[in-house]
Amino acid sequence: MTWLDQRRDELLTAAGLATFHFRGERVALMDRQRGIRKPAVLDAALSFRTTFTLPGKTPPYADQEGADGFLRYKYRGDDPQHPENVAMRRCYQDRLPVIWFVGIDRGRYLARFPVYILADEPEQLQFAVAVDPEQLYLPYGSNANEDSRKYVERITRLRLHQPVFRARVLHAYDGQCAICRLKHVELLDAAHILPDAHPLGKPVVPNGLALCKIHHAAYDQNIIGIRPDLVVEVRRDILAEVDGPMLKHGLQEMAGTRLTTPRTLSARPDKDNLEERYESFKAAS
Ligand SMILES: [Zn+2]
Repeated sequence: MTWLDQRRDELLTAAGLATFHFRGERVALMDRQRGIRKPAVLDAALSFRTTFTLPGKTPPYADQEGADGFLRYKYRGDDPQHPENVAMRRCYQDRLPVIWFVGIDRGRYLARFPVYILADEPEQLQFAVAVDPEQLYLPYGSNANEDSRKYVERITRLRLHQPVFRARVLHAYDGQCAICRLKHVELLDAAHILPDAHPLGKPVVPNGLALCKIHHAAYDQNIIGIRPDLVVEVRRDILAEVDGPMLKHGLQEMAGTRLTTPRTLSARPDKDNLEERYESFKAAS
């Protein structure tokens, strides 16, 4: 996990994850074929993964949230005694940290760690997963209530959904701001077109835009608007201001430019979402 920590902002590949060595021995951190990785040198699972699915497609394993807010990870097959399921169960019994590789694009993964197997649910052929140590102490299953569920979900959003959303959006936009094309990933955000609180404000790539910090804030504050035809507008009072280079080059000169969008059609901004968001920009202008 320390090794992974040094690669925290990178998207990982199976080939890259196969270069890890432990005490002189090569130990691949992810299994190329299987969802669950149990190296021969360990008694328990080291990692598990969720493959990438195109926006709008159903994932091969429908891993999802239970009524208690915790995420579930489906067994390998339907035999609870399958060696891979046994290896995951061992993590649950011994409270061992595990690595979760989440598919960002074909063959590219974001690592979340440490995560824990919170419970084994053989009747549903699945494990309950805690995405952060803090979740281990929250009520699970029938002990959960409305408040605990919300808290569990808040942690999941912070530790899993937001980093995955960011990684997917930045990857789709080739690591550059859609407005000014700045390429410093550390200065980029995944902005929501329709905000989090909106019923359609989902953390999915078609509702996202890769924007630098300034343009993200300007978009959220309705200083910058994006038309459904992808042309950038700047609020009238801002265009009339006179000030230094950031205002002139960073904001005013962006008016009339066209957004740089992903090559993949399914990753491009959703027109309806842009339209709705643009209405609130116009209302603020
Ligand atoms: Zn920018």
